[in-house]
Amino acid sequence: MAERIIPLADHRLLNTAPVVPSTLEAPNGLLSDTLARPLQDLRISVTDRCNFRCVYCMPKEVFDKNYAFLPHSSLLSFEEITRIAKIFVAHGVRKIRLTGGEPLLRKNLEKLIAMLSDLKTPDGAALDLTLTTNASLLARKAQALKDAGLQRVTVSLDSLDEATFRRMNDVDFPVADVLRGIEEAHRVGLGPIKINMVVKGGMNDQEIVPMARYFKGSPFILRFIEYMDVGASNGWKMDEVIPSAEVVRRIGAEMPLQEIEPNYTGETAERWQYKDGSGEIGVISSVTQAFCHDCTRARLSTEGKLYTCLFATSGHDLRALVRAGRSDEEISTVIAHLWRARSDRYSELRTASTEGLTQAVRKVEMSYIGG
Ligand code: SF4
Repeated sequence: MAERIIPLADHRLLNTAPVVPSTLEAPNGLLSDTLARPLQDLRISVTDRCNFRCVYCMPKEVFDKNYAFLPHSSLLSFEEITRIAKIFVAHGVRKIRLTGGEPLLRKNLEKLIAMLSDLKTPDGAALDLTLTTNASLLARKAQALKDAGLQRVTVSLDSLDEATFRRMNDVDFPVADVLRGIEEAHRVGLGPIKINMVVKGGMNDQEIVPMARYFKGSPFILRFIEYMDVGASNGWKMDEVIPSAEVVRRIGAEMPLQEIEPNYTGETAERWQYKDGSGEIGVISSVTQAFCHDCTRARLSTEGKLYTCLFATSGHDLRALVRAGRSDEEISTVIAHLWRARSDRYSELRTASTEGLTQAVRKVEMSYIGG
């Protein structure tokens, strides 16, 4: 087992407030990075807390009862989040995904959703406002989220088998309650609903085909995510990765599949349709088929740091600018400069390298910036 790095000296302590350029720019206009990738998606983490301890994201040994989660005072307020989001939308962001930790743990999240759902793109269109959740609170909150303006949800579910589910999320939470949350979200119209299963070899890969069988013919789109070396805590090993090609092979052996076109450029999932027309699945292959060339995603941590890659080793403290009373124009100019200078393509680099590269570098924790 690779030596675990306790993320004490983690990103919460790395406060690099960006320098505001002397020449300010108009707070609008599309942005492209050094690889000509437009800024289109913003993922906003609204809390670093979670009520699950998924082994690939927040292993219990690290995120234990002594783990110092962020004090509320350091979290961006809903007004601060909305202000920053508005600037990103003026620069071309069309989709906002709320993440965590577990976003439904953030109190009164409906208020933030209502504020964000009022934002319009420069051509007056509504934003694509979505959220990723472990569904532990979804059955209770779905209607209020929908009423507040949320459009869709993505639910994480790594197994239907109770014992395997518990091994993956390391807490005592029944699968039935997750399924109830999915059904309730569907009932209130938070769709199309996607179901994300992280596949870890030797832990839940035996569940690939049973999960496919269960969701085949349903209105839900099941996606299989390759186990990733996110953060510095999950002890990732390449030989625990089940390549997406193997996932497709296993399912296809029983339920024939054909590949179909992506819905849009930059979609992370590769789409496969059942030949009998009873729906589709997706595979997200950050390890074996990197998709950095189309990556249009920026991430905002729960305390206002901008990260330009899921595997980043440093962020940019936008909260410091907001709380220093900087203008929208100043903050917008900073964001424009940061995105234009972006050259991240970690997954491509990783793929060409060995495991050593991945664990030695203190990458930001996924539970801190959301997936
Ligand atoms: S590794 Fe970074 S650049 Fe590549 S797809 Fe993921 S977030 Fe984007």
